Amino acid sequence: MKTLSKEEWKRRRRIKHYARLSVIGASFLLIIIMILWGAVSLVKKLTAGADPVWTSAGDVEITDMLLTVNDYSRPQIKMDDVTGVVIHYVGNPGATALTVQKYFQQLRITEKAYASCHFIVGLDGEIVQCIPVNEIAFASKDRNIDTIAIEYCHMDAAGECTGKTYDSLVKLTAKICKTYNLGSDDILRHYDITGADCPSYYVENQSDWDQFKADVMAAMENIEL
Ligand SMILES: [Zn+2]
Repeated sequence: MKTLSKEEWKRRRRIKHYARLSVIGASFLLIIIMILWGAVSLVKKLTAGADPVWTSAGDVEITDMLLTVNDYSRPQIKMDDVTGVVIHYVGNPGATALTVQKYFQQLRITEKAYASCHFIVGLDGEIVQCIPVNEIAFASKDRNIDTIAIEYCHMDAAGECTGKTYDSLVKLTAKICKTYNLGSDDILRHYDITGADCPSYYVENQSDWDQFKADVMAAMENIEL
């Protein structure tokens, strides 16, 4: 058996000691890296889909036409937790999404009324966003603070939502429901809040309104956030 010199024994012990230290150091470093990585992915997860300006609802593009901040249509008041989505009709047959957006935008100059909505669905099914979803719109009185407001355009004098406009309205409402975990009962007409005759056609035709809500619920499956 080979006996180690005192020097050799010390040398080996030193090597062992440093080896142990580097293992501890490497493990420590690994743990730090894992914690940092976890923190980064958590922040990413929390902020994913949290952009208050949307780019699409299903396969329909959303055009950013945000209103200039002003007291009459975009007061930049922070929205509470969203508990509902309110559907309005424009009430002016043939009016386009652009016309409606311009009307809201001009209120800062005309000072005629306090009015706006988050989204407008146009005659060709195009969607325009006027207000970020984390700010309130002036659309539904007491419920401005916790609801997203949509106005849809219509050719029909009675205010029925039809064709591409209907398809986009369904998809947009479905996206809102999915984003905020809303159910069928959280889809409201302006009428349900204030008794206003809006959207006129769906106040008159309850079964078509029920069908709209059912269509939204069915569309939620195909909406990716
Ligand atoms: Zn309304």
